[in-house]
This record gives sequence, C-alpha cells and structure tokens, in this order.
Amino acid sequence: MTPIVKKKPSAQKKGQMISIAIPVYNEVENIPMLYDQLKPVLQKLPFVFEVIFVDDGSDDGTYAAIQRLQQQDRRIKAISFSRNFGHQAALTAGLQHATGDAVITMDGDLQHPPSLIPTLIEKWQEGYQIVFTVRESTADESFFKKLTSKLFYRIMASSSKTPVQPFGADFRLLDRKVVANLNRLEEHDRFLRGLIGWVGFSSIGVPFTAEARTAGTSKYSTRKMIKFAFDGILSF
Ligand code: UDP
Ligand code: MG
Repeated sequence: MTPIVKKKPSAQKKGQMISIAIPVYNEVENIPMLYDQLKPVLQKLPFVFEVIFVDDGSDDGTYAAIQRLQQQDRRIKAISFSRNFGHQAALTAGLQHATGDAVITMDGDLQHPPSLIPTLIEKWQEGYQIVFTVRESTADESFFKKLTSKLFYRIMASSSKTPVQPFGADFRLLDRKVVANLNRLEEHDRFLRGLIGWVGFSSIGVPFTAEARTAGTSKYSTRKMIKFAFDGILSF
C-alpha cells in the first residue's frame, strides 16, 4: 500500500488512549459482527481503547445489541439519539463524546475494515494529525451512486477552494487537536469531509477497498444522498 502524502507531518506523536466512534442506524446484525472483527485488532495494539457507538434513532434493536456488548466489554460506550438525525450528526456526536488522544471514525456495516486500524494509528504515530482513507472501489455500489458521487466531487472541486478528497470515506483518524477544532465549529448541517480539510493540519491518505455490506441495506436513501450533497455544496 502506498500512502498518498498531502502535507508533511510537523511533529512526532505518542498517545495512550484512542477512541473509535461508529454511527449506526438499524445495524442490529452488523454490531456483533463488527465487534468480533474489531476485538482481535484492538487486542494487538498497545493502547487503551474506547468504542463509542452512536445509535442514530434505530428501531430494529440496534441499541439493545450495543447494550449486550457493553455487558461483556467495558470499553464500549453508547450514545442514543431520540430519532434519526443522520450520519453526519451521529459522527459529530461521536467526536464530541470521544476522549481519546486520537479518534477514529468508521461505519458500522463493515465496509470500513477494522484491519486498517493499525495502519491509521501507525501514520498518526509518525506525526500526521489527519489520516484519511481513500476508497479504491466499493463492491456493491450502483452505477447511479458512482455517477452521482463523481458529479458531486466535480462540483465541490470547482466551487470550493478547500480541497475535498474525492471518494473519501468517513473512515479516518483525527488527532485530538483536530477534534478539538472541529468541536468548536458551530456549523449545523455539517459536511465533515469538507470541514476537515478546511481546518488544516498535516494529513496523509491510506487507500482501502470497501467490501460489500455484510448485512442490511444502505441507510443512505436517495433523499439522504441529495441532502448530503446539498449540505456539502451550500453550507460548505
Ligand atoms: N448511518 C447513520 N444514520 C443515517 C444513515 C446511516 O448513522 O441516517 C450510519 C450507517 O448505519 C453506517 C454509516 O452511517 O454505519 C454509513 O451508512 P451506509 O452504510 O448506509 O452508507 P453507504 O455505505 O451506503 O454510503
Ligand atoms: Mg455502508
């Protein structure tokens, strides 16, 4: 894997606690599967972890599934929204509640492989404050989604001075300093992929291949995708 360097790191970094924030909306089947893959990865790493599940108003028993995990693993924390507020709001809540020296955000459907976590942490330890990931391909992405996604990033590139990584994923590691800056922003309809580039800091990209979802269907309906794109273009 050849990482994509964007800016040089400024300092060496060593932390002790790492938070993993995972927004989930109706992912009842994926929660235990994700945990089974996450656990052995975390076990091999010399850090203290907290895993924050943000339940974005699920109605399929997702919260109960998280609570079952909490009984067997004290590192698991849960935030529960009263209704479905959307992926970006759930990510934001995860960042606000995370206490780690670094925070990793990832999806709860196993499209973001836990096996990449050691690489993200390695880059952080080299001094990068943002370690983002670049999707190489998504096994189950429709032609429509690929096309609209391409179009969206083209509009973003032509309308914003801040670079927005095309085909970026909300799978990334942020240093505490970056999280503190994001938490200070008062934007409401957040477009995190853009804001993260906007706040600055040294960053590096790591490519990964997104697998097909393990269970359930995409929670990004066409309506939600359009809102996401509008928030990106209008508010950012
Ligand atoms: N998600 C969420 N709230 C929503 C929609 C999605 O918290 O309103 C979560 C979802 O459970 C998953 C992540 O955000 O963990 C990405 O969503 P999804 O996999 O549906 O998006 P896709 O991969 O299809 O773009
Ligand atoms: Mg997904």
